[in-house]
Amino acid sequence: MEDVRVRFPPSPTGYLHIGGARTAIYNWLHAQKTGGKLILRIEDTDVTRSTEESIRGILDGLQWLGIDWDEGPYFQSAYAEEHREAAQTLLTTGHAYRCFCTQEELERKREEARKKREDFQYDGNCRNLPPDEVKRRLAEGQPYVIRFKVPTGPGAVVFEDAVYGVLEKRFRDIEDFVIVRSNGSPLYVLSNAVDDIRDRITHVIRGQDHLANTPKQVLIYQALGVSLPRFAHMPLTLDPQKRKISKRAHGEVVAVQYYRERGFLSWALVNFLVLLGWSTPDNREIFSKEELIEAFSLEGINRANSVFDIRKDDPKFFTDPKALSINAHYLRTMPVEELLPYVQAELEAASIWDPSFTESKRSWFAHTVDLIRSRYHTTKDFVELGRAYFADQFPIDEKALNKNVLKHENLRAWLPLLAGRLEPLEKFTPDLVEQVIRTLAEELDIKAGILINGVRVAVTGQGKGPGLFEVLAAVDKERVVQRLRNVPRLFS
Ligand code: GLU
Repeated sequence: MEDVRVRFPPSPTGYLHIGGARTAIYNWLHAQKTGGKLILRIEDTDVTRSTEESIRGILDGLQWLGIDWDEGPYFQSAYAEEHREAAQTLLTTGHAYRCFCTQEELERKREEARKKREDFQYDGNCRNLPPDEVKRRLAEGQPYVIRFKVPTGPGAVVFEDAVYGVLEKRFRDIEDFVIVRSNGSPLYVLSNAVDDIRDRITHVIRGQDHLANTPKQVLIYQALGVSLPRFAHMPLTLDPQKRKISKRAHGEVVAVQYYRERGFLSWALVNFLVLLGWSTPDNREIFSKEELIEAFSLEGINRANSVFDIRKDDPKFFTDPKALSINAHYLRTMPVEELLPYVQAELEAASIWDPSFTESKRSWFAHTVDLIRSRYHTTKDFVELGRAYFADQFPIDEKALNKNVLKHENLRAWLPLLAGRLEPLEKFTPDLVEQVIRTLAEELDIKAGILINGVRVAVTGQGKGPGLFEVLAAVDKERVVQRLRNVPRLFS
């Protein structure tokens, strides 16, 4: 069996975006599945747009996602000489030629084609220059580019794609494309293929937007006499308006970092991204790492473009609702012990971390996190919605305050009264707390719900949450009593 070698070759011109991350994930999964190797190659040949910062961001993002590579990072710019040598080989073997056409000439021909409403294709003007003529022009120092000599005749480039099946492109629809510019710099289509050959890549798994390069690269492979890698092109990811996902159109919501900063668990994001263009026959949505490696196959990649249902203008969501629900699933079901470090990090970042939470109050901390997570979507919720459990200062939901406290003028007196009843409790358990609240409601001849709803807002700042008696026990007597005594201030 061959040793599988796949690669992730990002161009470091921006942050790691979800499209790039998805490509990395598919390659990584294929390597994991086959016991192969993932090679990381930074395609930094566009010097004006590549930045150190972007490289760091990409590596950092991959590491956070848990996408570990086996070789690299290699840097494409280090191999420019090798790319030029490959072009020389193609010249020597008659698969390429020097083209001396000037920009002006080409522009004039392009303009003519435009007028006739024809597609412009380089006409092969320099394809058959006599060797003496080439020599003369070289001696004169005329600038030239190197073009690949695409075969003529009725044939076609044919290759098999694991996703799209057998694809072909007629020779006559491919122009003699440039592989080295007049300043000696190799073109991407050449560098990328030569790197894949050197890195002994067996599977090229990349976005469908690269499909236009593939026939040209197949020709390069064949001309260099090496066997083809297998190709698998992944569908595009579009927004609900069917626009390609991009930073320009969508902003930060397409960056991996955005999810990290908003309390996503990295595996949940991987799980979400993998579903953007791949599925199992039963449309399963949740996979552990082992399950995903087991289930993944290139054949499962969909042909249809996937939709990233961004709802960042909807106050309820800041991204695709499915991304949030997958994150919520993991947050609510993972072993609580594994979640604690994430919560700790959030509390630390919000400056409300207390070391006793992992020392004397360790079991309280684990219990509380477990109690409140059942309604949360991201780890940010622990400091935003759950602040009252960990700190004295917390925000109060305006709507809930009006509806459940301020509308009931009597609560101004009743809640401090309740505080006085709770204070003597020696054990602050849900059962005992419940008894006290129900007894008071009976005495006052009101529905217990009035007290319960009011207490919830006064103690947690929220209108909804887990069972109130559990909540009060978790917040702890002292804080509960103090918050209830504070209620008259909420009225003023
Ligand atoms: N550097 C290319 C990109 O970032 C990758 C091309 C490829 O996978 O062949 O889109």
